[in-house]
Amino acid sequence: MLELPETLILSQQINYFLSGKIVSNSIAAQSPHKFTWYNGDPSRYSTILQGNKVLSARGVGMFVEITLSDSMLLFDDGVNLRFHPNAGPIPTKHQLLITFEDDTSLSASVVMYGGVVCWENGNSYDNTYYEISQEKPSPLSAEFDEAYFYALIAPESVRKLPLKAVLATEQRIPGLGNGCLQDILWNAGLHPRRKLSTLSDTEVGNLFVSIKDTLKAMTDGGGRNTEKDLLGQPGGYQVRLCAATCGMPCAKCGTAILKETFLGGSIYTCPVCQPQG
Ligand SMILES: [Zn+2]
Repeated sequence: MLELPETLILSQQINYFLSGKIVSNSIAAQSPHKFTWYNGDPSRYSTILQGNKVLSARGVGMFVEITLSDSMLLFDDGVNLRFHPNAGPIPTKHQLLITFEDDTSLSASVVMYGGVVCWENGNSYDNTYYEISQEKPSPLSAEFDEAYFYALIAPESVRKLPLKAVLATEQRIPGLGNGCLQDILWNAGLHPRRKLSTLSDTEVGNLFVSIKDTLKAMTDGGGRNTEKDLLGQPGGYQVRLCAATCGMPCAKCGTAILKETFLGGSIYTCPVCQPQG
């Protein structure tokens, strides 16, 4: 699933490879997919997109947003976006395929579930997470400083939550999900089950630094190596704690990485570096 590092990298690549291209043809919902959501009738997408020029893209939390001359496209974290250069292979299954006048194309395909959203200028798209992600400061921005973070986690309703829920739910921090969470907590030496209220001042400080530094390292590395970029290449950031490293030695202490299920998803931890308290 895409999180902030990947939506930022994909947006940079879309700006580099697709800016200025003009849509000659598009097809939406060609491959039936039960858990893909569209904005209205996807058969209208080709009419909306026809002749539009790609202007720019940006990563907004978990979303990749593309601005075209007369419309907008929005893809969420469950969508694989791929650029297909001239005569390159195109996936047989896709939920949106956009072909440009120079015969290059962009495909969007959904694995488990995801949003492939398009709307014309003058209309809007109502989605709470998209709105929150646009309003709140990115954790990579200067605006997301210690004072902002301490205010974000100050309410009693937040303090009683385990760290996984604090950091990776409700888009409290846009683009930080259950994937990036694992290395952030490992770098901070904190267990995802720990309640925020049990953290010392030093631990809260370490957590703030780890959020900023870990997300920056993931982005600077070109995204996580568990995800693929616009050209289908894995990111250059080696994820420390994920399905692929489960059972492998912790890079700090050598203890085997543990996998558990917690709050409806997997968590990976080092039992020595991340004591439960
Ligand atoms: Zn360890």
